[in-house]
Amino acid sequence: MPATPTSWTNHSPGDLRIALPNVHATPPGPAIEAATRAALGWARTPLTERAALLRAIRDELQTIASELASTISLEMGKPLTEARGELTAVIAKFDLTLSDADRHLASESVTDGPHPSERRQLARGPAAVIGPFNFPLHLANGAILAHLAAGNPVLFKPSPVTPVVAARYAEVFLRHLPPGVFGLVQGGAAEGQTLCTDPRVRAICFTGSVAAGRAISRAIADDYTKNLALELGGKNALIVCPDADLAAAAQAAADGLCLTAGQRCNATTRIILHREISAAFIEQFLTALAAWSPADPLLESTKLGPLATAAAHDRYAATLQRDDLPWLLRGTALATRPTDGAPGHYVTPSVLLWENLAAGLSSPFTHEELFAPLVEIFIASNDAEILALHNATPYGLTASIYTRSRAHFESLAAGITVGNLYANLPTTFSPSALPFGGLALSGNGKPGGRHFIRFTTDEQSVQIPAGSLSTSGVCNA
Ligand code: NAD
Repeated sequence: MPATPTSWTNHSPGDLRIALPNVHATPPGPAIEAATRAALGWARTPLTERAALLRAIRDELQTIASELASTISLEMGKPLTEARGELTAVIAKFDLTLSDADRHLASESVTDGPHPSERRQLARGPAAVIGPFNFPLHLANGAILAHLAAGNPVLFKPSPVTPVVAARYAEVFLRHLPPGVFGLVQGGAAEGQTLCTDPRVRAICFTGSVAAGRAISRAIADDYTKNLALELGGKNALIVCPDADLAAAAQAAADGLCLTAGQRCNATTRIILHREISAAFIEQFLTALAAWSPADPLLESTKLGPLATAAAHDRYAATLQRDDLPWLLRGTALATRPTDGAPGHYVTPSVLLWENLAAGLSSPFTHEELFAPLVEIFIASNDAEILALHNATPYGLTASIYTRSRAHFESLAAGITVGNLYANLPTTFSPSALPFGGLALSGNGKPGGRHFIRFTTDEQSVQIPAGSLSTSGVCNA
């Protein structure tokens, strides 16, 4: 694993002439020590008090939401309108989490056992929350709030691509919470791994690539008491049936491919078309894609920003060089912004077309996320082929079926194993009101959405035989 430099300076991917503030890696040890010291006190703090502190943090974040959104755009290139949407989700998550807390953290009396009993939820202790670059606040925020509400101190390690916005967000938590209850650990894989393997860290919530998720899983394999929730990648398909609203499906496919320049776990990276409507769909899809042209992410009008890193841009450029792939639209990896020549990691979208089942099943991208605006179109002649193509991937994050028939939707749905299944919606349409997370290679424990709090505590059964305890005694402990 590459060591993180002790300090580094990122440049804005939308304009490489802009240097962002220098960042120092944080040695994880002292942060873990502080979280360990804070754990008992935080677990014993009544939920009403924890909730009041979280609401104060929410209110302060609200006042700096527009600054945070601009920093996201500057730091990782997400268009400003999308970054504002991320902040809206960050703020909304506080109330959703607190309502989940009321529901999932409450003790429950059990009256049908041999003795009066209770099921209680125990705080676990320090939790590491490790975030990706593409939603630098929103994805970590969901896990951070769930763990804090549940009484677990949090050690937040953001992506090294987005340390500046993470630091500004963390400042607010650090100001409101008791010492040690929240810690920010800046760094890369090495710092992440140190957090995950420290025996004092009792839970890990990781959002990122399969490779890193596997590395963490292997590293903690001997500590089976540590809770690991993984939110990993996806190869999400939009399926278009012969009776579908083709205009809506084509628009959803273009949006699902190009939002965040294709750098979303739930991005539409596969389109499976019934042969009957394939030509008509493709025509409308290419027309819809034409509206996605790269521009400055900080402008209100921009839909397509740059890729976040030079490595991602190089990877996309190298893929575009390949002549062995069936290009329907070969995009570009640009060194400068077409609108004004600013240097940046700009790209235009690409489409591959696999004409039949055998060709589609041989696609090299079925097992691999490129994390760039490249989509594959597959043509199927019947539902069996649609399902074979869909299920060729080991991922299971989102899928969407475009049809007007409930029966057809249910019949295809029965053959598809994903954590999030949609009818007639983009594969990227993942509201915070619902659980979100993947099955199969896409992860476990659904840390990315509603009700994640149910995985943040340990369950304890307490039996108190009637009359065996006096209520009049005193506790001298
Ligand atoms: P990444 O795996 O490179 O890094 C994610 C985080 O893990 C970073 O903070 C990184 O420093 C840290 N890390 C890397 N290796 C580690 C290790 N061995 N031990 C501990 N920490 C380690 O991912 P990324 O490039 O930041 O994000 C893109 C990936 O995230 C894509 O695969 C995408 O699909 C996935 N993702 C999934 C979801 C979801 O909800 N399922 C959401 C967003 C992103």
